[in-house]
This record gives sequence, C-alpha cells and structure tokens, in this order.
Amino acid sequence: MDCLFCKIAAGEIPARMLYQDEQVVAFADINPQAPTHILVLPRKHIQSPAHLEEGDEALLGHLLSVSVAVAKKEGLVRGFRTVINSGEEGGQTVDHLHVHVLGGRPMHWPPG
Ligand code: 5GP
Ligand code: ZN
Repeated sequence: MDCLFCKIAAGEIPARMLYQDEQVVAFADINPQAPTHILVLPRKHIQSPAHLEEGDEALLGHLLSVSVAVAKKEGLVRGFRTVINSGEEGGQTVDHLHVHVLGGRPMHWPPG
C-alpha cells in the first residue's frame, strides 16, 4: 500500500523512532509544532477515526495508553496535548490514523 505512515511503521522510510510494539509505533514529527511533537499510530492501516471498525476498540485504547506513556517518557510532566485530526476539514494531511502528542510549551484553546 502506498501509505507514508505504513512505510515508516514498517521501517522502509526512516524516522526518529521513540516506541514500537506489535500494534503501534511512535516517532518524532518531521515538522514539530511544539518542543516535543510525537506521532503515535497503529501499524494497521486505518485511514482516520471515521474509518474505525467494530473490533478496533482495544487497539484504540492501546493507542491512547501508549500516547500517554510516551508523553511521560519524554518528560512532559507539566502536561501535554493529544490531537487526532480527521478528514479534510479536520486538518488531516496524512491518511493513516495518528495521535499527535504535543508538549513543552503552554497550549492554547480553542485550537485553530
Ligand atoms: P495531520 O496533518 O495528518 O494530522 O498530521 C500529519 C503529520 O505528519 C504532520 O504533523 C507532519 O509534519 C507529519 N509528517 C508528514 N510527513 C512526515 C514524514 O515523512 N516523517 C515524519 N516523521 N512526519 C511526517
Ligand atoms: Zn497506512
């Protein structure tokens, strides 16, 4: 499949890998929007949250657990922001479901 994040997860395209297990991977965003900006994604190709299927619940729970664990591992003790963009108007530019973990500066609300 011609998917950038599938290729990164498979090790075919390099990234600064921070965590890997059988189900998910976490790596540094190439264009960080905060001092710490990590992407956490399932190895399974799921296009977006709108494409989740029955049976993906456990994977989704694991994805969020790993996102929090990676935030802690990266020292974001003062807090962090998790974001999932979905679809064109949601600001999604890579069509493989991913959690952004942002930290190291105060976050603002509402987001743009
Ligand atoms: P989205 O806009 O889909 O929510 O987020 C996609 C993210 O992937 C962006 O923050 C962008 O900087 C990041 N990104 C795009 N291409 C690459 C790449 O080749 N390597 C890495 N590490 N991150 C990428
Ligand atoms: Zn993919």
